Amino acid sequence: MHIGFLGLGNMGAPMAHNLLKAGHHLSVFDLHTTAVDDLVQAGATAATSPATLAGSGAAIIITMLPASAHVKAVYLGDDGLLAHVQPGVLLIDSSTIDPLCAREVAALAQRQGNPMLDAPVSGGTSGAAAGTLTFMVGGERADFERARPLLDVMGKNVVHCGGSGNGQVAKVANNMLLGISMIGVAEAMSLGVALGMDPQVLAGVINTSSGRCWSSDTYNPFPGVMDNVPAARGYSGGFGSDLMLKDLGLATEAARQTRQPVLLGAAAQQLYQQFSQQGHGGLDFSAIINLYRQPAAADE
Ligand code: NAD
Repeated sequence: MHIGFLGLGNMGAPMAHNLLKAGHHLSVFDLHTTAVDDLVQAGATAATSPATLAGSGAAIIITMLPASAHVKAVYLGDDGLLAHVQPGVLLIDSSTIDPLCAREVAALAQRQGNPMLDAPVSGGTSGAAAGTLTFMVGGERADFERARPLLDVMGKNVVHCGGSGNGQVAKVANNMLLGISMIGVAEAMSLGVALGMDPQVLAGVINTSSGRCWSSDTYNPFPGVMDNVPAARGYSGGFGSDLMLKDLGLATEAARQTRQPVLLGAAAQQLYQQFSQQGHGGLDFSAIINLYRQPAAADE
């Protein structure tokens, strides 16, 4: 199948490579020509703008952009996708953006005869490279079924979450809970250790008791408790604190628009904002535990 792919960054490039490897014909565009050149070397065809990508004859166009403003520019600009795409072409946006923005762009696409799905992902850059992403998809069931064979190439969990925007809703709700639970584990672990407990023994108790969660038993933030997690390597790699801050901002902004209280989500957003302001936005999000630990201990 001929597919358009726009946004060849940390996530988009490996996703596009997997589509090429599966035998699809790809037209690609990114503002960074080196990213385009890399895909062209692997067999893709270069487009020179969103407009030329839209006119390339692709039956499905996938976008993977940083944030809502980029999605609006690429879809709604004069040189954008909607102004130049043929009716019937299926549009899939996999960027993580505000659910209300996703619904707004999809409604405009739908109105001119282009079905559109929001399909944000989890699984990080390693999941993108391995083709094991989780896709949370919002939109019409029939459009989901049409997209599914492609999403299956790039992911191993492909979930239809309901109508337009619900993929983004699932993503922001999950990541808000993840941010809150990570802070909870950081706080509890730091309290226990400050009161004299061995961190491994404490983690063992929590992980067989009612406090257990993914942040405690799979991604524990306390150094020395687990191997193969960012806490074991100075919080490098993993899921950056600034990306968590972005997702918490999406959650609190969506909550504001619908007047839904998210007290703990807002507190988590502020803690990550403080952490970022201190210059730590590039560290994995489990490094938030350093806000709780004694300075000497946190430097270890
Ligand atoms: P990135 O910044 O590495 O890549 C974004 C790409 O979009 C860049 O190559 C950039 O040049 C391109 N771009 C921006 N504006 C453009 C425009 N107008 N026209 C064409 N190209 C344009 O970002 P990423 O890490 O690939 O993340 C993409 C999305 O996936 C984000 O919404 C992010 O929140 C989400 N996400 C990221 C991860 C992760 O671990 N990196 C995990 C899950 C979800």
